[in-house]
Order: sequence, then structure tokens, then C-alpha cells
Amino acid sequence: MNKNDICIISLGCAKNIVDSESMGQVLQRDGYRLVAEPKKAGVVVVNTCGFIGDARDESYTILGELAAGKRKNQLIIAAGCLTQRYREEVASRIPGINGILGTRRWMDIAQVVRALQRQKPGETLYHLPETPDSGGEVEGVLRATRQAGSAYIKIADGCRRPCAFCAIPLIKGKPVSRPTDSIIHEARILQESGVKELVLIAQDTTDYGSDLGIADGLAKLLEQLTSEVPDMPWIRVMYAYPGYVTDRLIEVMATRPQILHYLDIPLQHGHPDTLKRMKRPHNLGWVRNTLTKMRTAMPDMSIRSTFIVGYPGETDAEFQALLDFMEELKLDHAGAFPFSFEPGTASESLGDPVPLEVKKARLEQLMLTQEQISLGCNQAQVGRTLDVLVEGVGDGITLGRSYRDAPEIDGLVITAGDAEVGQFIKVKVNGAMAHDLTGTRLD
Ligand code: SF4
Repeated sequence: MNKNDICIISLGCAKNIVDSESMGQVLQRDGYRLVAEPKKAGVVVVNTCGFIGDARDESYTILGELAAGKRKNQLIIAAGCLTQRYREEVASRIPGINGILGTRRWMDIAQVVRALQRQKPGETLYHLPETPDSGGEVEGVLRATRQAGSAYIKIADGCRRPCAFCAIPLIKGKPVSRPTDSIIHEARILQESGVKELVLIAQDTTDYGSDLGIADGLAKLLEQLTSEVPDMPWIRVMYAYPGYVTDRLIEVMATRPQILHYLDIPLQHGHPDTLKRMKRPHNLGWVRNTLTKMRTAMPDMSIRSTFIVGYPGETDAEFQALLDFMEELKLDHAGAFPFSFEPGTASESLGDPVPLEVKKARLEQLMLTQEQISLGCNQAQVGRTLDVLVEGVGDGITLGRSYRDAPEIDGLVITAGDAEVGQFIKVKVNGAMAHDLTGTRLD
């Protein structure tokens, strides 16, 4: 075990993976070596997730396992969202942890490792300076993570929305948009390294530029990106906020061929009263109009959303209204979560009155409803020829994604035969399931 070998374990969402990648680059620049196996590392960094109860439980379990199997002189650092909010609890629940680093100071990871290597064993080092946000550019460090032919790129961090159930603004602080020039510079680097799909992420991509005084910032960013990085074949936008998908954004998406006709727009619910209690936009007319505008401008538009079931006060009638809304919208993809009680958020005073078994039953019913809707959307693809970005090959089968599917969360296109990972193939769709499509390769 070399004391300068570091293993980073990333939990949670793609935004956290980007932070882990950036921490890895900071460490490598300081002379540390990254290793994949925690057992072989002198330092193990766990970039935790603290978004909801299940994610926190997973973070505690992994930290606990690592602490239990810790080798002599090995150092464990808990970083990320969980530690930003629950610093003392993390240290007291997992006694073997040596260092606590808040998510807002991910860029200080090498400094924390050096300090830990110098200090006496047995003392816990806390590195959570008062920082209002988690923004921050480190020269030469990419805010992106690559997987096969795709790369997630962070365009902003933090959130100013008031969603009553969400702890992210408490964890991440106010939104900080990255300079457009930095994003374009990184997009060029990624394109030159062979990336074919750039996936734009932030807590709320449609808020991009608000802190920089840029109106309609996401649309303007996409215009600049497509003009200045014209060889990036696919650009995908995730996490749009209802009410902020502007006419200009729709026009840019419809007229710039690099931008995929795909949008992830978490709606969270389909009943205005539930949405009001969630402190979310509750104008369902806006949702209907905006989806119509998008589908008129881009008839092949693929839309994803996320919903919460069992929010405090959700009646049977409100839940039914959500199912009816989903039937009406016919979204290509949807995910759902049972409400997770988060102390300190605006919904705390509402408690968690919907019983767990009701939440589970509603979740199952919602997912069954969406499965039928997704199946219908997929069946409508049969006969189409799609460009598919290859993600994996094995046992005579190729797995890839078309523009309709975002990495990790949506479906796949399955074809027979081999292809090169990270390259495009043309596939004629001949079969549809609820999540995936099958097809024949044409080239
Ligand atoms: S938009 Fe709402 S749900 Fe999303 S990160 Fe911000 S506060 Fe949380």
C-alpha cells in the first residue's frame, strides 16, 4: 500500500461524478496516483450523496464498510453532499474516518490529504470553510466526466429554487454559472479526445447565466457552443425547470442540428395543490403549452420527467390527477421517487404523513402507468432509422443509445453483431419493449 495512492469512490448523481473526476485531476496534478481498488490505496476518498434518505443510507453503509476494513495507516476521507450537511453525524457514526471535506470545497482535496498525512493519527480533520456556494474554476481541471463516447459537463452548480422537499440549496448554496468560455474550451478538449455526446448538467440548467446577468442564458450558451464547437455531434440538455423553457430555447433546439431533440424536465407532480405545497411552479397550462410548442417545433421530440409520490397531504384524488396528467402528456420516459422527509427543508413542518405502504403502492402504480406509455412511444419508433452511439459490445450483441435516451437513466437500442464503442452506427428499429428498442444495423 503506497501512501500516495488514492482511490476515489463516487456515489450519487452525475453531478457528483464530475466533482469526483475534478478531485482526481487536482490530486494527480499534485503528484498523487489514482487507483481503483480501495484496499490498495493509502487514501480512500468517498464522495458521498446526501440528497435523500436512501442515498444517505448508502453513503453511511459504504463509509462503514471501508472503516471496518481499514488497513494500518490507511486514511479515509468523507467528502461530498452528505458531509457538507451532516459533518458531526458522519464523524460520530463512522469513527474510523480521518477527514471530512464539504462538497463546496472539492477543489481543496489535495490540501486535505497533505494535512492528514502530516497530522497525528486519531484526530479528525474537518475542512468545511464558510463558503456561500460550490462554484469554482481550477485552471487546467475539467468539470466533466467521460464515459465511452459521452461526457457530462457541469455548466453551473448550486440552486436558488424554493422546492420545499429539496435539501440541495442547503447543501450546494446559491447557483454559480461557469464562464461560457470555460465551457466552450472544455467542450473542444472533449471533442478532440473523441467524445461524441456532450451532456449539459447543473441542478437547473435553465437557470444558467442568471447570476452572470445573462437573460436566456441556456439558449445563448447553446448558440455559442454549436457555433464554436461545430464538430461535437450531439449536445443533450438535462434538468430543465418548468416555466423556464423559453421560446428562444425551443427555437435554438429546433434549428441547431447538434442539439438533440431531447429534454429532461422534472415536473414532480400533476396536481396544482400538491405542486403548491411543494413550492413548485403549478401552472399546468404552461406545461401543456410548452410541450405542444416543443412537439410542434420538433415532432420527434423525446421528453423525460421525474415525479414524487406520497408528498405530504397527497390525497388519492391528487395522486389520480398525477396519473391522468401522465396519460395526457405521454412522456417518453419518467422516473419517480417516494417522498423522502428532509429535516431543515421548507416541507419539514408538513411532516411525513403518507404511510410507507401507500407510497410504495403509488410508486408501483405510477411506474406501471409509465411503462405502458413508454411502450407506446417506443412502438411508434418501429420502422425508423436511428443514429445510435455504441456503449457496449459483448456476446455478439451491441448496446447503444439514440438521441431519445440519456446515459444511464433511459433505454437502449439493441442490435446483433459487433461495433466500436464510442462510435455511431445506423439502426433500423424492428422491435419495441417498455424501455429498450431492438433493430438491425444498416451500415
Ligand atoms: S430545482 Fe428544486 S429540486 Fe432541483 S435542485 Fe433546485 S431546489 Fe432541488
